[in-house]
Amino acid sequence: MADFIDAFVIGEAEEVALELLGSFEECKRSKVSKQETLLKLSQIPGVYVPSLYDIIYAQGGSITRIIPAMQDVPPFVIKRIVPILPPHPTHLIVPNIETVHDRLSIEIMRGCTRGCRFCHAGIVNRPVRQRPVSEILQIIEDGLASTGYEEIGLLSLSSSDHTQILELTRAVYEKFHDRRIFVSLPSLRIASFSVELMDELRDLRPGGGFTLAPEAASPRMQAIINKPLDNTVIEETVRMIFEHGWLSLKLYYMIGLPGETLEDVQAIVDAGKRVLAIGRQIRGNRVRVHLSVGNFIPKPHTPFQWYPLNSMDELQTKLDLLKTGVYRTGIKLSYNIPETTLLEAWLSRGDRRLGRVIHRAWQLGAKFDAWGENDNMPFWRQAFTDCGLDPDFYAYRQRAVEETLPWDHIHTGVTKKHLLRELEFSQAGKTSPDCRQQCYACGILNTFGDKRPVSPLVYWGCP
Ligand code: SF4
Repeated sequence: MADFIDAFVIGEAEEVALELLGSFEECKRSKVSKQETLLKLSQIPGVYVPSLYDIIYAQGGSITRIIPAMQDVPPFVIKRIVPILPPHPTHLIVPNIETVHDRLSIEIMRGCTRGCRFCHAGIVNRPVRQRPVSEILQIIEDGLASTGYEEIGLLSLSSSDHTQILELTRAVYEKFHDRRIFVSLPSLRIASFSVELMDELRDLRPGGGFTLAPEAASPRMQAIINKPLDNTVIEETVRMIFEHGWLSLKLYYMIGLPGETLEDVQAIVDAGKRVLAIGRQIRGNRVRVHLSVGNFIPKPHTPFQWYPLNSMDELQTKLDLLKTGVYRTGIKLSYNIPETTLLEAWLSRGDRRLGRVIHRAWQLGAKFDAWGENDNMPFWRQAFTDCGLDPDFYAYRQRAVEETLPWDHIHTGVTKKHLLRELEFSQAGKTSPDCRQQCYACGILNTFGDKRPVSPLVYWGCP
């Protein structure tokens, strides 16, 4: 892809946009060449100009080095961040057809301190920065007035970790309960506190289900991914959800995680059955339990970036086990098709040579790949062949920790040393608690320390 795009902004574009446009305008005015313009843009921190980096490949196809092609080009592109979240847009385009997430979506917090080891967003969006309650209320007020929406979503990677979340939900209720708007509060932690939060909003959103994301069901896998959950807490939370009136509960899990066995997958089925039994005990047969199972893809910039993807056969065996396990239990199961996962893995783990593959696949007819009725895989395989590349090299290869990865010159602020430490902890079955309790010096403060004093502690989560 990088072959086809002249310049990217890495990180939060809010801060870079004006600099970028100013610089571009100046180049246009002084009529400098495209090459000179790109060189100038590459000097702006956070702007990545792929053509100004040379990639040196080893014989087997892996990368040996990524080096600036010219003297003034920085060796790493460090992502940009804003110390305080900028004003939230409130005058939005309202679609005149029904769309997914057709509501006023408000980002209440950015980043996450939980450190789940599979999570790309949790790493690349560090540090945590949150909006104060008064600002969020104003955004809701202005956004509803300008769009006419009757539903809002209070979004973040882990909403119950907003330090003023209870105050926020109470204030939202007080201010908007007579307008009968719907409020969704996704990404809640598995804890009774989350049920209390949803209770605060209860009158605002009649009906609706409750969603939790344990991601793994066995204690062993939970330690590996760094999302430990006490079974008693899970059961207590589930009990509370049904006792407080909800009838439907959706649980997100993943399969294909590093070191996963069939017992770990069976544990997902067992967890679903336990939840259903608790629900039925409290609310009878009207209770609905939905297991939504995604296939894990090792993502760049995470502690799991070196792992291979599970083979299609392995994923299929695990899916078959889930399907058999929930058969005739009343549990709804949804899952991803393994081949779609494979395509996603190529795209998320590839290097710049993948740009040619994407272009070729498109020429051959690959369009709307996510639509179930389109079987585009033959086009993709043909495209790899035409470009002289091996698809398995990208998806199924365990990468050595010494290997230069295609994204190593893009710096998120979190160091490779931190990722490796988390990888080692994972392999030893050790967990790392929330970094709001204990800072692990992941690199964020070293990289962005100069911005830290601008932001009061209540807005920026690092110590
Ligand atoms: S610097 Fe410390 S507190 Fe901040 S994100 Fe990194 S580990 Fe967490």
